[in-house]
Amino acid sequence: MTVPDDYPVADIDLGALRHNFSRVKSLAGRARVMSVIKADAYGHGMQQVATTLRDSDAFAVARLEEGIALRRQGIVQPIVLLEGVSNSGDLVLAAENRLSPVFHHPSQIAMAEQTALTTPLTFCWMMVDSGMHRLGIRPQQAEAMRARLAACPHLVGDIGLMSHFANSDLVGDARNQAQLDHMLALKQTSGVEICLANSAAVMTMSHAHQDWVRPGLMLYGISPFDDRSAEAMDLRPVMQLRSRLIAVYDLYRGEQLGYGGDWIAPRDTRVGVASIGYGDGYSRHLSNKASVWINDRLARIIGRVSMDTICIDLNDIAEAAIGDPVLLWGSAQLPVEALARHAGTIPYELVTVVCGRVRRNYIDG
Ligand SMILES: *Cc1c(COP(=O)(O)O)cnc(C)c1O
Repeated sequence: MTVPDDYPVADIDLGALRHNFSRVKSLAGRARVMSVIKADAYGHGMQQVATTLRDSDAFAVARLEEGIALRRQGIVQPIVLLEGVSNSGDLVLAAENRLSPVFHHPSQIAMAEQTALTTPLTFCWMMVDSGMHRLGIRPQQAEAMRARLAACPHLVGDIGLMSHFANSDLVGDARNQAQLDHMLALKQTSGVEICLANSAAVMTMSHAHQDWVRPGLMLYGISPFDDRSAEAMDLRPVMQLRSRLIAVYDLYRGEQLGYGGDWIAPRDTRVGVASIGYGDGYSRHLSNKASVWINDRLARIIGRVSMDTICIDLNDIAEAAIGDPVLLWGSAQLPVEALARHAGTIPYELVTVVCGRVRRNYIDG
């Protein structure tokens, strides 16, 4: 049977994923690892990533639906719901699916006190606002709130304390230490386990590792730092986004290209059209800025990114032809971190928004 040679495609290198996980393990030492696989594992495919990272001590997702999907796929490890749940029915569902909600707001704690559960909740966490001021209980209230949770008969085992760094990508920033100090003090008073370190802290704040680390981005081989490459930290990119040229033609000097005509050929120009666009999750903010990799060379995007296509300056790649592969990101020459800078965003966003229209092709080599 012949299958269509479909593109664009996101190759997902499961060997690289395992390598990055082993980097987490060796950095984390005795701390246990909660692998963050929310948002479809940052666009890499939650199910395959969870199956591949089976040595994780736990997984973390944002929402109840994600946790239930993982259970249906047969994942057996503890699964933490970083946003917790917001009504009693969802708390019952979480318990029935053996999911572990994070309690980040007093209203969730009151709800837990008032909800009768037939299945107990285990491995629950409380989010402390140690300085980010997004979600969490203030440190001053943390001990009282934790005690209330611990008194709920259907919450079994210790309630761990979690917090999240606002600036861990700024290495040495004093605010990181201030956040950690709040958590260390709470650990002393309560005697329960704490969990703070996201990827940046796993890599640069070993004193923040403590009982559990909680990395996401580094598992996917991407650097959270502006000034340190993934390669320099021995992380391997997991996703390679690629497509093909579907047209090649010549423009005459002075002719406009694409929507708005804001690219005008400064000289006669060989143009290639690749099948990928913002309808695939390739950011329109890359218009006129990013490069792609064709026939072992970088080539510039010219004109605006359309829904299904981009145009590429092929003047220096005269031999490029219809059908030639085009790499959008995921190699040493074209790291997704560099594209994120061009797009004025972070690499988290670029990989996470790759759409369902782009097939994930799992490679295990
Ligand atoms: C997404 C997330 C993480 C993972 O952060 P990375 O920077 O991707 O390592 C950890 N903790 C919380 C609460 C998160 O929302």
